[in-house]
Amino acid sequence: MDNPFQSYLTQLNQAAKVLKLDQQIIDQLAVPKRLVELNFPVKLDNGKIKIFKGFRSQFNNALGPYKGGIRFHSDVHRDEVIALSAWMTIKCAVADLPFGGGKGGVIVDPKKLSTKELKRLSQAYIRTLADFVGQDLDVPAPDVNTNPQIMAWMLAEYEKVKQIKEPGMLTGKPVSAGGSQGRTEATGLGGFFILRELLKMLKLKPPLTIAIQGFGNVGYWLADVAHQDGFKIVALSDSQGGIYNPDGLEPQKVLQHKQKTGSVINYSGSKKISNEKLLELKVDILVPAALENVINKSNAAKIKAKVVLELANGPVTPDADKILDKKGIVFVPDVLANSGGVTTSWLEWVQNKSGKYWPKPTVFKKLDTKMVKAFKDIWQESKKQRVNLRKAAYIVAIKRISRAMKK
Ligand code: GLU
Repeated sequence: MDNPFQSYLTQLNQAAKVLKLDQQIIDQLAVPKRLVELNFPVKLDNGKIKIFKGFRSQFNNALGPYKGGIRFHSDVHRDEVIALSAWMTIKCAVADLPFGGGKGGVIVDPKKLSTKELKRLSQAYIRTLADFVGQDLDVPAPDVNTNPQIMAWMLAEYEKVKQIKEPGMLTGKPVSAGGSQGRTEATGLGGFFILRELLKMLKLKPPLTIAIQGFGNVGYWLADVAHQDGFKIVALSDSQGGIYNPDGLEPQKVLQHKQKTGSVINYSGSKKISNEKLLELKVDILVPAALENVINKSNAAKIKAKVVLELANGPVTPDADKILDKKGIVFVPDVLANSGGVTTSWLEWVQNKSGKYWPKPTVFKKLDTKMVKAFKDIWQESKKQRVNLRKAAYIVAIKRISRAMKK
């Protein structure tokens, strides 16, 4: 299995070579500044206490407070959390935000918990972590299997423990708890803005087909916005399997089906397709929007899309990068493609700190402007250095981070 932290180190070293980076800077970017490991008790509905293991990796804060989501998943692993926090460091720098990178995770299958248990778990995690987070220290947000409700529980618990009001301590909150308009749509929408800019550069014109692996919050919003803009969504999937219809699927109707049945599978008028086969479909745009390492050396040669838009974190391994490059497939790296989420988190944090709140169209306009700027910076660097977009993104990011570190 590809180790995501190894992937990060490969990506770092490639950029460091181009930048002729000082070894002392490379060394500091090869380890997290702080890794907090927590073992915390949670009372289950049957009255028994269970110990859960969680992490918070604070990778680098040269550009600002640590920033990044909290993931609830049974596969959460120390190295994975560190890798994700390193990628957040790069992502925030790519998006030119005043944030460093962090990430949290709890080893748990949240689907096996009741709502009350999930609430107690969320509270216990943040309570144990309370001294290590804060609006100017480390600002968490949602990630895989966490959502605005969980953020609201965590914020309330943190404020109770600390005896303060500090809504900017985390982002991705519900609007009623100080969240920003548009944060829910932001990652998918931001990905769409990036796709729009890329297609202009590649001169790819509609009609265009899209396959999306992962139909969580991010995959759904990308699908919805792209569908409304005339793209044909031919395949969608979740952890239980996928659906395929060459004539196109309607994301809103698929979502209703998923909400009713728990999965996209068995959606009427569609054919079943496995998650593996979905990746190999002959489509214009492939969007991995689930977990890491899904495109690797064993299947990269079978990818037939013209463009891969990485909405998941780390879906393509360094081995696969080389194969996609050789095939002439353009891939937009996660640190650019999915940076709309953290960019809107920044907008939320700015609103919290200033106490001034913007309507949704204002938030989307600001997001659009930021995404276009990030895309252009990376695109130009890739042309200048004659490298793919991932290498260009790392070069731009590490240049910004190392400048701040030297200061
Ligand atoms: N979890 C998201 C990511 O991986 C959002 C992080 C944030 O908003 O801080 O980019």
